[in-house]
Amino acid sequence: MGEPVLLGLDLGGTKISAVAGTPDGRIIRKAVVPTRGEEGPERVVSRIIDLLRLVRESAQVSAASVAVLGVSHGGPVDPRTGLCSSPNIPGWRDIDLGSLLGDALSSPVALDNDANAGAVAEFLYGAGRGLRHICYMTMGTGIGGGIVSDGRVFRGAFGMAGEIGHVTIVRDGRECSCGRRGCLQAYASGPAIEAIAAERAAADHDTELLPLVDSVGRIPCEKLCELARQGNANARAVLQEAAAAMGTGVANLIKVVDPELVAIGTLAVRAGDLLLDRINEVAYAEYGGLMPERRPIVASELGDDVGDLAALALAAAHLEGSA
Ligand SMILES: [Zn+2]
Repeated sequence: MGEPVLLGLDLGGTKISAVAGTPDGRIIRKAVVPTRGEEGPERVVSRIIDLLRLVRESAQVSAASVAVLGVSHGGPVDPRTGLCSSPNIPGWRDIDLGSLLGDALSSPVALDNDANAGAVAEFLYGAGRGLRHICYMTMGTGIGGGIVSDGRVFRGAFGMAGEIGHVTIVRDGRECSCGRRGCLQAYASGPAIEAIAAERAAADHDTELLPLVDSVGRIPCEKLCELARQGNANARAVLQEAAAAMGTGVANLIKVVDPELVAIGTLAVRAGDLLLDRINEVAYAEYGGLMPERRPIVASELGDDVGDLAALALAAAHLEGSA
C-alpha cells in the first residue's frame, strides 16, 4: 500500500475546483470549471461529480483507493444534518451534498464550510503547524473565521461559530451587508476599505487618489496598497484605520477563544506589514492587559491554493480522526 490518495472539492459561487492529493497537502491533479449556479442545483451537482471523476481518473486512482473526499463549501453547512446552503448559488438551499457525492463516488465524505476548512488547512499545512489552538480569518469580500480548539474545529450548536465579521465594533456605526450596523466587516472587508478610501479621497480632495475611484465609487485595494507604499498619507491612514478595526475584532476573538495564533488570509497576505503591524499593535493593546502572553497575528501561509488545501485538509483530518 502506498500513500492514501484524497480528493478535494472547493465549491464557490463562481468556480468549482477539484483536486487529487495526499494527506500532507501535496496536490497531484487539479481541474477547475465555472459553477454556473444559474443552471440550478441539479446541474451544479452533476458538474461536480463529473469533475471529481475526471480528476480521479487523471490521477490514475480507482474509486476504491480514494480514502476520503473533502468538501470545502462556500456557504453555511448545518453540522446537525450536513445540509448545505449558499447565498451565491441560486436555489442552493438545504442540499445534502455530502450524501449525493458519497453515493456517486463511493467514497467517505468530510464536508464543512470554507472558513472552518481554511482553519483546518492552516492548522495542518500553514502557520498553525504544530500548534493546538488557532484561529483563521479571511479578509476579503467578507470577513469569515474558523476556530481550531485543542486540535478540533469548534463549530457551535448551529454551525455559526467563528462569525467574527459580524461582531459589533462600533455601536450604530457603518451599515453592514448583513443589514446591521457597526460590524467589523463594515470597516475592514475589501469592499468596506475600498468605499472608505473613496470617501476619504473626496473629502480631502486628494488628487492622487481621486482618479482611482471606479464606477461603483470605490478605490481598489491593490491600488490603495500601492499608493500607501509610495507614501500617500490618505491611503496609509485608510489602511491603518481598517487594521485598527481588525485589531479590535481579533482582540475580541482572542479574549473569547484564547488561541496560540491567529492567521489572516486574503488582504492580509497581499498587504502584509501595511496591515499586520497595526493589527498586532491594536489587538495587543486590547487583550494584553487581560492575557499577557502574546498571540502572533500573522498572514496565512496557504497561498493561492487555499481553497484546494482547505478541501484536502478536511479529508486528511477525517482520515486521521483529528480536527
Ligand atoms: Zn454585519
